[in-house]
Amino acid sequence: MNSAAQVAFDLILRQARVEGRQALADIAISGGMIREVSDHVRADSEHELDVEKMIVSPAFLQPHIHLDKVGTLPLLGRNSSGTLAEAIEILHRIKRSSTEDEVAARAGVVIRQAVLSGTTRIRTHVDVDTVGGLVPLRGVVQAAREHADLCEIQIVAFPQEGIIRDPGTAELMDAAMSEGGSVVGGMPHWEAEEPAAREHIDICMRIAQRCDADIDMHVDETDDPGSRTLDILIDATSRAGWQGRVTAGHCCAMAAWPDGYASQVITRAAAARVNFVTNPATNLLLQGRLDGEPRRRGLPRVKELLAAGLLVGCGQDCVQDGFYPFGAADQLQVALILCHAAQLSVPAEIDDALASIRHAAARIMGVRGYGIEPGCAADLVVVDADDMHEALRLQANRRWVIRRGRVVAETSITRTVNRGNDQSPGG
Ligand SMILES: [Zn+2]
Repeated sequence: MNSAAQVAFDLILRQARVEGRQALADIAISGGMIREVSDHVRADSEHELDVEKMIVSPAFLQPHIHLDKVGTLPLLGRNSSGTLAEAIEILHRIKRSSTEDEVAARAGVVIRQAVLSGTTRIRTHVDVDTVGGLVPLRGVVQAAREHADLCEIQIVAFPQEGIIRDPGTAELMDAAMSEGGSVVGGMPHWEAEEPAAREHIDICMRIAQRCDADIDMHVDETDDPGSRTLDILIDATSRAGWQGRVTAGHCCAMAAWPDGYASQVITRAAAARVNFVTNPATNLLLQGRLDGEPRRRGLPRVKELLAAGLLVGCGQDCVQDGFYPFGAADQLQVALILCHAAQLSVPAEIDDALASIRHAAARIMGVRGYGIEPGCAADLVVVDADDMHEALRLQANRRWVIRRGRVVAETSITRTVNRGNDQSPGG
């Protein structure tokens, strides 16, 4: 840095590959925002980072995870049937005994893992019910506060046990929305009958209207072709004028619906601008458990949703809990699983998979100023690859992660092939 020159920027990334640009670019940042992207930024900065011709992407987003449940697997007994119902039953035990500090500690581990993998914004569902009360919510609020410098966290007040079948939950959801919840959750298919599912959705919509909040529900997370709560949610969205503000997560029954019915619902979802989030890792593992072959895969019809112009995000859902024993909170891993699960393989489809953890997820989560251009937030991930398709294929190292213009994580990996003394090919 030339000490005589005026420092114009906080940070300049030099020699970056940026999607849509032929030449390498410099990215200049100040006040947490991108100010300039050009072939060469002629100014000084507080810090400079030579990113060595690696690809720089806007940081990833996590549109669907359950931070209150992560890391509970070692605390639970075995899920012997492997079904969702048994998983929920086992979870009750842990929900009753958890403390806010214990929830915050488990959530914190996964938040830091997510940041190391290039994610700086997370939308988490948090159980709100009469089993655990507001303890899970308060624990996640604590974790969000403790990690505010690394990651922005949106909290969805999620009635995991149902609302009608768990009296007192509607009041707890109201309380959750004033204690840190910013999005209204739901789980209508968990109610005993369809009228109760309708009432469940109406209650959620009323809370959303009162709080001027978006909605993000668990919808039809079952293999039952008779589960049709997405249809009810679409109606409620249009009636309330909440178009563009409602997200339907999971939507596993869509895989079991007859084709004609599915295509009608997708057309209506497009008219109501309902957004979708698929969670392929967990649902590939949980759904179709009782099927013979052919086995239902438990995914929404991703290609059809995209073809209808709908936003499709992709979430991790679970990390090492009673539903799912894996999960690294790594959105590049999740996007690769989506490619396999939804058969996204040609370049435009791979772009869609990448959008599901980037631009589409940003729109679903209501994030403005997402991208690599002046005026966008300086939340970036530098990936050790030439382009994002290679990054996805190779699950390439996230060399640096930048949050609001500050390097918040870095990972160095050294890999060597040893050829012995003879360095000739084949030696
Ligand atoms: Zn979920």
